[in-house]
Amino acid sequence: MRRISIFGATGSVGQNTVSIVKRNPSAFDVHAVTGALNIELLAQTAKDINAKIAVTSESNLLNHLKERLKGTGISAKSGRHSMLEVAANPVDVSMSAVVGFAGLELSLEMAKHGQTLALANKESLVCGGALLRETCDRAGTKLFPVDSEHSAIFQALNGEKLSDVERIILTASGGPFLHSSLAEMSDATPKQAADHPNWSMGKRISIDSASMFNKAMEVIETKELFNIPSDKIEVIIHPQSIVHSMVGYKDGAIIAQMGPADMCGAIGYALYWPNRTDAGVERLDFATLSNLEFSAVDNSRFPAISIAHSAMKQGGIAGAVFNAAKEQSLDLFLENKIKFLDMADMVAKTVQATAAFGNCEASSMDKISKADKWSRDFVLNLVEMSK
Ligand code: NAD
Ligand code: MG
Repeated sequence: MRRISIFGATGSVGQNTVSIVKRNPSAFDVHAVTGALNIELLAQTAKDINAKIAVTSESNLLNHLKERLKGTGISAKSGRHSMLEVAANPVDVSMSAVVGFAGLELSLEMAKHGQTLALANKESLVCGGALLRETCDRAGTKLFPVDSEHSAIFQALNGEKLSDVERIILTASGGPFLHSSLAEMSDATPKQAADHPNWSMGKRISIDSASMFNKAMEVIETKELFNIPSDKIEVIIHPQSIVHSMVGYKDGAIIAQMGPADMCGAIGYALYWPNRTDAGVERLDFATLSNLEFSAVDNSRFPAISIAHSAMKQGGIAGAVFNAAKEQSLDLFLENKIKFLDMADMVAKTVQATAAFGNCEASSMDKISKADKWSRDFVLNLVEMSK
């Protein structure tokens, strides 16, 4: 039996994780589940999988949560401090599936105290990759990617030598605007941008997929997770989302990992490693699969990946600046204050301005938080100045 805590349990990855726990309840002893605003779902989830503790990040919702958990024996907690406190409770597996920068500090705490960190929160690696890896190494914590592409790479690297890797090929669906013109993209609404053709995910990552900022984040995530130089990482459009990513070796061989577009595959792999389990993923039927297509990324319509490359070239806190500028401009887009294509423009200008910091290392939570704040303020200033 594995003792598990699920951070971001009410979200898309969180609920998929819960579904895997429910398939085989005797395999898991659930310590804690966390959420934010959706108290009904948080309380229901805690009851469904017999969690000991439920935590909402929102302090003003504690009474609501307590009321929903009355008579169950499940302890209700709230606020950032409680989330950090619970992240420090030792478990066998911690699932880090909070969305955004808020996830980094939690992942670091989980890394210090968990045996295995199942990492969905890609922001943790983009903003503090080296710090997170060091923290895991120091504590002897195993770090498993839950992003489908990185789980695919992890699986394709099984038993191989990193020194034999020639390139990593990340696949990208291309999102809802793969065939849209720049004019159409310019007028895109948040609702259109969140309408992903293949994957069912949270709203923020879905819009990041439409702008390809999600793939740009994943390029940085790959570099940080596998310690691979950025010039060995390629991105290819693959609209069917069947090949989840590939590793190319120095003899020309390519090892690809395939499956339906269902996050339960990557989550189940991280939760059950070194074993495999049936996580309820449909089986591919090759006889009825039509064609698998691959094409190059159009950098003029999707500049996000080249912006990520300039952040990686700068190194240090540039990843945190990149992520914060992306998060801040996404907020502005969701509030209808900027247009879809403005997001890339804002992030590019902010990353370019990072050079003013010099060579600042992302070596502590404090330094990373300062860079995050500076970047958000920079984007807000850009918008003010453009008025
Ligand atoms: P989501 O928006 O569906 O869920 C986010 C979760 O985080 C919810 O439980 C929410 O209550 C919680 N949360 C939000 N803000 C919080 C805060 N400030 N403090 C504490 N908790 C907070 O997001 P998601 O799509 O499940 O994505 C979660 C993470 O996994 C993201 O980093 C995303 O990039 C990554 N990811 C998601 C998918 C996917 O299929 N959805 C795939 C790969 C990677
Ligand atoms: Mg992904």
